[in-house]
Amino acid sequence: MTDKKFNQPLGGNEMPRFGGIATMMRLPQVASAAGLDVAFVGVPFDIGTSNRPGARFGPRQIRCESCLIRPYNMATRAAPFDSLQVADIGDIAINTFNLQKSVAIIEAAYDEILAADCKPLTMGGDHTISLPILRALNKQHGPVGIVHVDAHADINDHMFGERIAHGTPFRRAIEEGLIEPKRMVQIGLRATGYAADDFDWPAEQGVRVVTAEECWYKSLAPLMAQVREQLGAGPVYLTFDIDGLDPAFASGTGTPEIGGLSIQQGLEIVRGCRGLDLVGADLVEVAPAYDPSGNTALTAANLLFEMLCVFPGVEYRA
Ligand code: MN
Ligand code: MN
Repeated sequence: MTDKKFNQPLGGNEMPRFGGIATMMRLPQVASAAGLDVAFVGVPFDIGTSNRPGARFGPRQIRCESCLIRPYNMATRAAPFDSLQVADIGDIAINTFNLQKSVAIIEAAYDEILAADCKPLTMGGDHTISLPILRALNKQHGPVGIVHVDAHADINDHMFGERIAHGTPFRRAIEEGLIEPKRMVQIGLRATGYAADDFDWPAEQGVRVVTAEECWYKSLAPLMAQVREQLGAGPVYLTFDIDGLDPAFASGTGTPEIGGLSIQQGLEIVRGCRGLDLVGADLVEVAPAYDPSGNTALTAANLLFEMLCVFPGVEYRA
């Protein structure tokens, strides 16, 4: 075992990587966020999905695929476990028979995490879950800036008459004043819509919309320099819908759309958030059953590690 001050992921020389209990990154599982700087937390919720269900299995599969991730980031030199106390606090016990009650359960659970002065790093679950998380964050931080990666804008007014579903969270969040629209960017939007002006509503609110086509064939490092300038010094929430990536890389999701971002671009976006005042982040919409290779959850696990690497307080080795 280690004599380091902070929790360390269980190493491959202590227990084979395919062995042991599958916590996120083989970190300790603890009962609450008390004493943690960052908590990995699962929300096994998919009753807000409109097409293929299955994101309820996301947290478990992400934990499983995360067993290969080692503690140091060789590209950025981030050493998150040298300066932050991190653990896996398990899953939120949602009520899978009741969406409204589940949304309230999630908000209350995040109230508790935030009251412990801990930053949540969430494994979804469908994108509905970002709404109750933002409601909880609002009580601590006021309106936040948003980096939102997705094939979809998720700003529908309703879905089948329902105001809360996985295609509506950012409509509700903007209406409720949880987001500063001028400090929000959506990256990767594409595909077909119900109306030709589907992406106009966020732009009309002041949100910067960057379509997938604007990203094709490019490094996104220059875009992220602009995003850091746009979002400035205030609190920021990063929400990454795995369907922002192309289904060639992430087929295990409920509403896949062709022509999406590459894994390299996804990494550039997350790494480009370094320097922002991140108060939390999520990775949503991993539905493992549609990807027997496991690569979607493997990618999600790595992106979550990359998110941890850009949280405030992380040390970088020279
Ligand atoms: Mn989404
Ligand atoms: Mn989506």
